[in-house]
Amino acid sequence: VAAGRRLKTDPRRSALMKRVRQRGTPLEVEVGRICTSLGLRYRRNVKTLPGSPDLANRSRRWAIFAHGCFWHHHDDCGLATVPTRNARFWTEKFAANRERDARKIAQLKGLGFRVLVVWQCELDDRRRLVRRLSNLGEARIA
Ligand SMILES: [Zn+2]
Repeated sequence: VAAGRRLKTDPRRSALMKRVRQRGTPLEVEVGRICTSLGLRYRRNVKTLPGSPDLANRSRRWAIFAHGCFWHHHDDCGLATVPTRNARFWTEKFAANRERDARKIAQLKGLGFRVLVVWQCELDDRRRLVRRLSNLGEARIA
């Protein structure tokens, strides 16, 4: 408990959390650009939908989460590291984040939404990313 209290005021960790949580990450911006180029209309950071999807179109019933690999702890991804300092804190934090992500996606699907999770590391293969996003467009509900 004492260690946990000390963690709360760790300035390095606070700075890291602030950085990884910020809105309008390069990934979100790029995914938005690609969607626009594909003729997909969307709103950003839709707070009225479960999990506040980064991009969503309510009438077309699709939502996209643009996830940072570190914060959302992408499976088998080199960017999904666990800081050695306070490793247990981070491991628990990542597990909670992933659990919450899965729950929000399930809620959206329950509302009839198609949900796409785009990962930060996918920026390395832009063509593949464009293809994934265009599949979403092709599958649109009339
Ligand atoms: Zn990744």
